[in-house]
Amino acid sequence: RKRLLTQLKGLPGETQDGQRILTYANIGNPSDLGAVLANDAEGIGLFRSEFLYLESQDYPSENEQFQAYKSVAETMAGKRVIFRTLDIGADKQVDYFHLPKEENPAMGMRAIRICLTRQEIFHTQLRALYRASAYGRVAIMFPMIASVWEIQEVKKIAAQVRAELTASGVPFDEHVELGIMIETPAAAVLSNQLAKEVDFFSIGTNDLTQYTTAVDRQNQDLGRFYDPHHPAVLELIRLTVENAHRNGIWAGICGELGADLSLTETFLAFGVDELSVAPASVLPLREKIRSLNQSNRQAILDRYLEVR
Ligand code: PEP
Ligand code: MG
Repeated sequence: RKRLLTQLKGLPGETQDGQRILTYANIGNPSDLGAVLANDAEGIGLFRSEFLYLESQDYPSENEQFQAYKSVAETMAGKRVIFRTLDIGADKQVDYFHLPKEENPAMGMRAIRICLTRQEIFHTQLRALYRASAYGRVAIMFPMIASVWEIQEVKKIAAQVRAELTASGVPFDEHVELGIMIETPAAAVLSNQLAKEVDFFSIGTNDLTQYTTAVDRQNQDLGRFYDPHHPAVLELIRLTVENAHRNGIWAGICGELGADLSLTETFLAFGVDELSVAPASVLPLREKIRSLNQSNRQAILDRYLEVR
């Protein structure tokens, strides 16, 4: 079986009738790059940048971050790397951020909310990411967006960073794609408006399930109440992809659900353009995609619409 999967290396994630889906990998540390390459991922769909902050005793400097991002971009040698800006807060606490103790951390000061409140931290990370973009195919993605104004403010800061780099003659890629994670119900519902602001969407099904069903993703005792197959979650995914395409941008999934082979056919019927999964899941997913024939796509969608 291992040998059979190995034979899939170098082959595209493509259904029998020619629907092409990018099969990317999620990673949380540069040490995972070996697994990304060994499993022939076509790119990195989610690079969780938190490791830099979690491993360090103080805010990582622009140069430390630049070196880390640059080496990832270089190692991927022209394949797309989607770096997610810091997603600290909630379950990922870092002492030196001195975040206030909260009653409801999952709904509190986390991710983009920290970045827009303490903009110097964000500014430093964006400078490092843009500088790294001169060394590979870098895309930047913002977590936990819930409102249109948030991404508009993010884009202003990104534009300011680009202007600074240009003014000081520092090289960067002018075409870095900017995307957002769709992981709040608000973002999924507003995806038609949000799609006008960005180059791509990546659906974070772990948080999307948590916030849509109001079930704590960390609480093991809740068992079957945490259900990423919940029809409300699937409907938000379908809506997000539809609105992405309506506005001419692409949409992927980077939450755990992307690796759930029982849903691959449904995701392809929705028109998902990219699935980003743990490195070890890339080839099994590619095998599944290559076994499917989506010429009955409408039938699958109709069946889905009947059961929802
Ligand atoms: C998600 O929420 O689905 C996601 C990919 O992000 P994280 O698991 O890092 O919160
Ligand atoms: Mg998330």
